Amino acid sequence: MNTISSRAKILYALAALFLAGALLVALTFLLHGDEYAMNTRNRHLYRGNVLISGGRVLDRNDKVLTAVEDGERVYYGSGTIRRATLHVLGESGYIAGGVLEKYSAELVGYDLVKGVFTARENGGNDLRLTLDADLCATAYEAMDGRKGAVGVYNYKTGEIVCMISTPSYDVKNKPSDIDTNPKYDGAYLNKFIYGQYVPGSIFKTVTAACAVENIPDILARRFYCDGQYDAGDGVVKCNDVHGELTFEEAFNHSCNAVFAQVANELGAKKLENTANRMGITSSFAVNRLNTARGSADLSKTSRADLGWAGIGQYTDTVNPCNMMLLAGAIANGGKTPLPYYVDGVYTKAGTRVKDERSDGSQTLLNVTTASVLKQFMRSTVTDYYGERYFPDMKMAAKTGTAEVGGELSPHSWMFGFSLRDDFPYAFSVIVENGGSGYYGAGEVASEVMRRLFAGR
Ligand SMILES: [Zn+2]
Repeated sequence: MNTISSRAKILYALAALFLAGALLVALTFLLHGDEYAMNTRNRHLYRGNVLISGGRVLDRNDKVLTAVEDGERVYYGSGTIRRATLHVLGESGYIAGGVLEKYSAELVGYDLVKGVFTARENGGNDLRLTLDADLCATAYEAMDGRKGAVGVYNYKTGEIVCMISTPSYDVKNKPSDIDTNPKYDGAYLNKFIYGQYVPGSIFKTVTAACAVENIPDILARRFYCDGQYDAGDGVVKCNDVHGELTFEEAFNHSCNAVFAQVANELGAKKLENTANRMGITSSFAVNRLNTARGSADLSKTSRADLGWAGIGQYTDTVNPCNMMLLAGAIANGGKTPLPYYVDGVYTKAGTRVKDERSDGSQTLLNVTTASVLKQFMRSTVTDYYGERYFPDMKMAAKTGTAEVGGELSPHSWMFGFSLRDDFPYAFSVIVENGGSGYYGAGEVASEVMRRLFAGR
């Protein structure tokens, strides 16, 4: 009797194990079936690493950026547009994060029940982007061979209309010296999403926000700049001898002496908190990509270090996309809509089968602080830069000229936004070793925003 009962127990246990195993297989198939089907070793879908099945990728004006014709992947006819959209499309095995990789299952039309084969016969699905390929090409040309990144988005809707990273290359005629020629250093990285750079003076928006929230009389105070700030344990040099200034004027003229002094009055903790709250150290989801976090670790600063940190030097780093979102939030009462550059997945017949537009928003600033920064960035254009770069756009902006050490030219930054209701766009531009923020990044921003404005 005892023996029979133990045997039964063993049988039950085996049956239970079998069921668990079957369940696991089913679950794995449900959860990861697309990964198995979409594996680059699947010869029905890939040649080498190149996806040779599935639908097209279109820009916002129906330009076909890539498609499959007669079993071959083909790209847009203009070499400039191919270079300008390279990082968005990706190149399997070289540039990670491209839509051809991230949306491969949707492009091919993978379906849990039918697998990939029915879809393949139908030609797969199309992916529509919110990017304007011509605007990306304008940005690419404005960079004129220099390295960096450019992004522009609608701060009311979250649509990214321009996103480029340089250096780039033509995927159709890949340069043979790409891995040895220094001019291609960094070509495999989408720097707009994954770059981390010294911010320089664009970081003064963070110090300014912190001061507005923590020093009650900051806007009424008079400061004096004699060309440097002596922190006691070191000196922070200014770019000029500015004399007497209000805080707003110090922001307009990007006065290092005043901002280093204010950073010390605020202290490391408050400045760090404000930087965190403003998204400097956050990673933002942009469809299926996540932006690189910047850094504002002020835990071990001397007074001079803190002064340098307050003007965007020391160990501060920022990501170009995060800065674009910050510009948008300043324009938009402290809140940015969550950004996206993929609109959705469409059948060949034009029916949207997957909506990739994000909804929701993230608050980076309170309304009062946002409105002060908006005013500061607007007066920087009207009273200091002039409207030459952005005629009729009611632009607000801040530049940065970020020292990167050694013999190298500083990084050149500009970020900003238009105040016009009918032109709610914000941008950020970084030109690596581009020299002055105003002349380097400023000219790139000007060309891109003027083109966007003209076509509105
Ligand atoms: Zn100064």
